[in-house]
Amino acid sequence: MNNRPSRVARAERPRSRSGPQSQRDAARDTLSREVGYVRKPHDGKLRIALAFPNTYFVGMSNLGFQTIYRLFNDQPDIVCERVFLPPKQELQALLASGARIVTIESQTPVSDFDIFAFSVSFEWDYTNVLTLLRLAGLPRRAAERDTRHPLVLVGGAVTFVNPEPLALFADVIAAGEGEALVPALLAAVQASSSRPELLGQLAGKRGFYIPSFYDVEYAADGSIARYLPREGSGAPPVVTKAALKTTEAVDPPSTTIFTPDTEFGSRFLIEVVRGCANLCRFCWAGYNYLPVRPFPTDRILELARQARTYSARVGLVSIALCDHPDIEHILRSLKEMGYSISPASLRLDDLTPTIVSLLEQSGERTLTIAPETGSDRLRRVINKTVTNEEILNRAELIFSSGIENLKLYYMIGLPSETDEDLVAIRDLTLQVREIMMRHAKARGRVGRIVGSVNPLVPKPGTTYQWMPMEPTDSIERKMKRLRGLVSDIDNVYFNIKSERHSYYQALLSLGDRRVAPAIEAAELNGGQWRRAVEDADVDGDFFIFRDRSQDAVLPWDIIDGGMKSAFFRAELEKSSRAEWTLPAKRARETITLLPVLS
Ligand code: SF4
Repeated sequence: MNNRPSRVARAERPRSRSGPQSQRDAARDTLSREVGYVRKPHDGKLRIALAFPNTYFVGMSNLGFQTIYRLFNDQPDIVCERVFLPPKQELQALLASGARIVTIESQTPVSDFDIFAFSVSFEWDYTNVLTLLRLAGLPRRAAERDTRHPLVLVGGAVTFVNPEPLALFADVIAAGEGEALVPALLAAVQASSSRPELLGQLAGKRGFYIPSFYDVEYAADGSIARYLPREGSGAPPVVTKAALKTTEAVDPPSTTIFTPDTEFGSRFLIEVVRGCANLCRFCWAGYNYLPVRPFPTDRILELARQARTYSARVGLVSIALCDHPDIEHILRSLKEMGYSISPASLRLDDLTPTIVSLLEQSGERTLTIAPETGSDRLRRVINKTVTNEEILNRAELIFSSGIENLKLYYMIGLPSETDEDLVAIRDLTLQVREIMMRHAKARGRVGRIVGSVNPLVPKPGTTYQWMPMEPTDSIERKMKRLRGLVSDIDNVYFNIKSERHSYYQALLSLGDRRVAPAIEAAELNGGQWRRAVEDADVDGDFFIFRDRSQDAVLPWDIIDGGMKSAFFRAELEKSSRAEWTLPAKRARETITLLPVLS
């Protein structure tokens, strides 16, 4: 086995300054409340500091983060330790003291590791990536770092949507599923004896994007003309996302470290099935996790059995839970193990009497469903293949089973949306409420309906990727109108998200590497995005409100996520005709409910 520096070709550098004692004490205290963390000797291993760019409280409930930690540590030649953004007060103290951030497991300064890897799930955490680089004592931009520094690798869900806003900060972007990427990373490290060699090796592997290997040429209108791989770099014109063909032989991602100090407490989280076949035209998760791949039932149940000692509640993390062929058997078995079961958002058309009753019997009092809008017409536009009639049938099923509360997800700013569609949101909610009240009367206890409304941010890698976001004043008008429509309904509470928030989220979602200065400015000014965008002289409207349909290249085209542009163009056409696209299986199941087909 090679010695440590050769792993990622680190040059020797003076040891970094140790953090204050309090940092070490806090880490030890954290470990004392955890079950399942991994502590390995570092000698001769590839050392990876794995960051979640938010607090421990948030990060430890993130299944992707927990999974990548397990996948790294499952490799005998890798030692992986965690690091999080410290809570506010601690963060200020650390920044003020200039002390270097340390990992939780061995309290080693991050700057001493071979690789500093980030698992990034949300655009809002981009500034935290920069704060963590700062806390580690590393230059923020890849171009300012060298072999004295750990290799900075960015992965996670955001990287296979649009990694470009982070391109200037990362040495390597790992795009795709961890199960496929981790062994490839280790193989490349083991086959390399210098940093350039390692980058060259990775550039040749599926899923690894080395931003510095590409020049970007811009057209006169400011759009991207092309990505140009640098001569001799070996970088491909387009990086293909790494994904598993099948999950048949793979352990499902699940909680491996239990702690009470996290968002979902000591809930055991497990992914049951990956992907969703519904193809809603706005949904990046639906398109990006295709094909639908169930995890092995026996492994799901075995892991749940093992975790039962530490947890009495299981969270099923899947976007289309009921696409697992054994879902009823899984739910029944989890209930028999004594778990109370919390599913993530359920797809309406998958709610069967058996499933609803199993969830109710396991103690679930609230379900979440996503009608997205109140009108059947608009649901055909976005390819959400359920009707109001079906939604009301399912609401009947839910409330009659004894479940008391319902969360409803809606969106506004959808293509072709009119005032009638906003009224339809109110009307549908009122009809659902009527059903709730009828069953509440019989029970003598009234639950509540919580509506959550977000503006549509057209996402990369979806049918709407070319579409401009609806102008701010129009969205604000619609929000105001909707607030007026739904206020003062007893037992119904609406949470309508601020438009400004969506604007900057859209910038990070739709931007390219030219938005990097705004991320840097926002990191330095404490997240004041309006000022950051102005100070950095970034034209936010250009990225958010421009029709991109004539652009030669979109920022996220550098990663091939598997869906073809021609398919999205055809879907956009169908969207404009309010026409559904049904996967064959769904078409058979729902044919009676879909008048559009007849
Ligand atoms: S049903 Fe839900 S998860 Fe599936 S594509 Fe539609 S929005 Fe996405």
